[in-house]
Amino acid sequence: MEYVILGAGAAGITAARTIRKADSQGKITMISTDTQVHSRCMLHKFLSHERSAEGISFVDPDFFEKNNIEWKAGVTVTKLDTAAKRVVTDKGEEISYDRLLIATGAESFIPPVGNLREAKNVFGLRHLRDAQAIDALAEKAEHIAIIGSGLVGLDAAYGLMETGKKVSIIEMADQILPIQLDKTGAFEYQKRFEKAGATFYLGRKAADTIMNEAGEITCLVLDNGTEITCDLVIVAAGVRSAVAGMDGEGIIIDRGMQVNEYLETGAEDVYAAGDVTGLSGIWPNAQKQGETAALNMCGSKVAYTDRYAMKNTINFFGLVSMCVGIIVPQEGDTVLVREGASSYKRVILRDGKVAGVLLQGDISHGGIWQYLIKNEIPVDKIEKDIFALNFSDFYGIKENGEYVWNTAKL
Ligand SMILES: Cc1cc2nc3c(=O)[nH]c(=O)nc-3n(C[C@H](O)[C@H](O)[C@H](O)COP(=O)(O)OP(=O)(O)OC[C@H]3O[C@@H](n4cnc5c(N)ncnc54)[C@H](O)[C@@H]3O)c2cc1C
Repeated sequence: MEYVILGAGAAGITAARTIRKADSQGKITMISTDTQVHSRCMLHKFLSHERSAEGISFVDPDFFEKNNIEWKAGVTVTKLDTAAKRVVTDKGEEISYDRLLIATGAESFIPPVGNLREAKNVFGLRHLRDAQAIDALAEKAEHIAIIGSGLVGLDAAYGLMETGKKVSIIEMADQILPIQLDKTGAFEYQKRFEKAGATFYLGRKAADTIMNEAGEITCLVLDNGTEITCDLVIVAAGVRSAVAGMDGEGIIIDRGMQVNEYLETGAEDVYAAGDVTGLSGIWPNAQKQGETAALNMCGSKVAYTDRYAMKNTINFFGLVSMCVGIIVPQEGDTVLVREGASSYKRVILRDGKVAGVLLQGDISHGGIWQYLIKNEIPVDKIEKDIFALNFSDFYGIKENGEYVWNTAKL
């Protein structure tokens, strides 16, 4: 059996590992534009010079040898021929497969504002090569502008500020981390970033740019006319599934690459996993999808059901937050808040169940909230203070001594 995996990120690497466990003899070929395996979640540590490029790898140096995987690094697949069951690379090579996994992740979205798309000093932060390009320019840059204050924008800001740089951050929402946190939780981070030297422009959009003759943006013009001088621009305004060249027969692309519950695309023996599917943009879910797709490529029939369970963990300046489920309450929801000296907790209840939780400062018992949300456990009959729930309220012990979740105890 010949397995071909496109992408050496969280989904691709997990898939390769899983296939090798299930099929010790099959031929595995991995193809990636990346020239080295790296964790995107740790790019800020490269920017802050805390870790080298090798230091943000998440596999052992002998991973490919040990698992008998042929890795074509620095190679991009430009065409998919699903009828002939082969992929074509930018080096002109044609590689046949019996089973193919598309785990190509996503690319930074650069909005068509002014000259952002063609300027030489504008970068997204998605790949190690982006971080390396930013790092090279940041050495001399005096005014760094970041568009977007989600996790990626703030990761970039945090990494660069650690090296002593000052940054300006433009955010169209009226708070930072608008997808992850409510205003109260977000403001705690805003204060810390400002204290460290960041300037925020909230509720503002980049509307235009001024570019010099060398093709560099020297000024961002906001929608209220404010001009922000800059010599380096980082755009963290969302991502798009990396589907360029992936439009083979049977493949349906609608935002992400469409898959069924077994992570099969519409083309025979072609699977997709990770950010490219658009099902979720976080690391653990990419890994889970990689594992599920790989098992199915090896002949199992395992459904990927964890489509919900959106979870984010945030840690800047030593302040940790965790949010699971929804962040913005709807009409009819109940919002419960508990504030302590160094913690903030907010729970959204909908139809007697927990629909979302935000924990800041103290994320202990986060697993319980995740469990309640994911399994849609009714909590409206609980008499105990909901913020005081702990593991003993849920665990039962089987006859063999094993601990099990036991919501009947509630
Ligand atoms: C700065 C940053 C911080 C993040 N922080 C967190 C965090 O704290 N927690 C969290 O859960 N998630 C975080 N994420 C998201 C997380 O990194 C992604 O969800 C995860 O990497 C997705 O894995 P993936 O395998 O689907 O894609 P990727 O990791 O993007 O891997 C895609 C692979 O496909 C290759 N590729 C793409 N196109 C082609 C092609 N045509 N031919 C060949 N190869 C190709 C790429 O080279 C790469 O190897 C962060 C992301 C970024 C960018």
